Amino acid sequence: MNDFSPIPSAPGDAADGSEIFRRLLVAVSILGGSIHLAFIALFQAAGVGMLAGINVVSVLCYVLAFFVIGRGHALAGVTLMASEVVVHAVLASILIGWDSGFHYYIILVVPVVVLSTLHGWRVKLPAALAFCVLYAGLSVALRGAQPPYPLDGAMLGGLHLFNVAGMLVILTALAAYYFILVSQAETTLRRLATTDPLTQLSNRRHLLAVGQAEVRRVQRYGRPLAVVLCDVDHFKLINDRHGHDAGDAVLWAVSRALQRGLRSIDCVARWGGEEFLLLLPETTLDGALLLAERLRQDIAGLRPAAPGGEPVTLTMTFGVAALAGEETLEQAISRADQALLAGKREGRNRVVAG
Ligand code: GH3
Ligand code: MG
Ligand code: MG
Repeated sequence: MNDFSPIPSAPGDAADGSEIFRRLLVAVSILGGSIHLAFIALFQAAGVGMLAGINVVSVLCYVLAFFVIGRGHALAGVTLMASEVVVHAVLASILIGWDSGFHYYIILVVPVVVLSTLHGWRVKLPAALAFCVLYAGLSVALRGAQPPYPLDGAMLGGLHLFNVAGMLVILTALAAYYFILVSQAETTLRRLATTDPLTQLSNRRHLLAVGQAEVRRVQRYGRPLAVVLCDVDHFKLINDRHGHDAGDAVLWAVSRALQRGLRSIDCVARWGGEEFLLLLPETTLDGALLLAERLRQDIAGLRPAAPGGEPVTLTMTFGVAALAGEETLEQAISRADQALLAGKREGRNRVVAG
């Protein structure tokens, strides 16, 4: 493995809210077009040519919306589809009656408007309110009224059932979309709050949280726990000689080497600039000293390349401490820190027990 691997972007950021919303709109345009295609056949078969004609216009709207969204004009696409839904629902409710159930689709436009990431609240709230007023007005005007194109009972019943089912499917899809959006945001926030951006290791806060839980376990069951504080030797010189980017590449290479050398139950964090803390559950002082010595050798053998291509040599000094008696995690880390300082004084590139 090249130790100067480019620092990758973190997972989980692939699609932001707008991108997910755009994909949702594409799916809606395909689904909407297909459903209205089926309506053309249905109304043609039922001999209501006028409604079949309205659905031809609807299909053309969805095809147009599909291409408009594909070209990056999500706002135009969503406006076109929302207008189609509302106009179609209003026309169908007037022409074949309230009981056809087309009015349900007007209700669905309200959460779509509210969830939209394309407008601010100043547009969304009045628009949502306008659709609510429209729905209430149509309900008062059309419920119980005789439509100009009445359908026979079975057809009307079937259509109502189809529209109820369609509304429920869309409602479920909207809830699922909202759930996915919220969980993705939560995952991203949790990762940002617990990860060091340069090395992608845990940050100090995350390691301390994990460490406190480990200490409670240690104190209850009397199991061993060790901490190792390690620091790159003369890191300032590396920065000065090879540049800050080479320094970052060294931190990346060190992070990967530390991760490679640890078990899955261990935790490694970037403690500060070029300082790392290892938390080693179920590990005695002797075990931690052995591990630190192996890591010291691994790191001394690294040759990460500076951006110019020239290899950088580096060493690290390690301070090791095992949690003793009723000691707190902070006290054990402080002893590891004292050992690290002693190692620096004694000439660096070594492992010292605290
Ligand atoms: P010692 O052997 O005693 O540890 O000496 P040192 O030079 O490693 O330690 P010192 O504390 O004098 O210098 C640490 C340097 O690390 C100074 C700071 O500019 C650099 N540094 C801190 N964070 C980063 C970082 O994220 N990237 C880079 N490239 N350098 C950093
Ligand atoms: Mg240092
Ligand atoms: Mg330091």
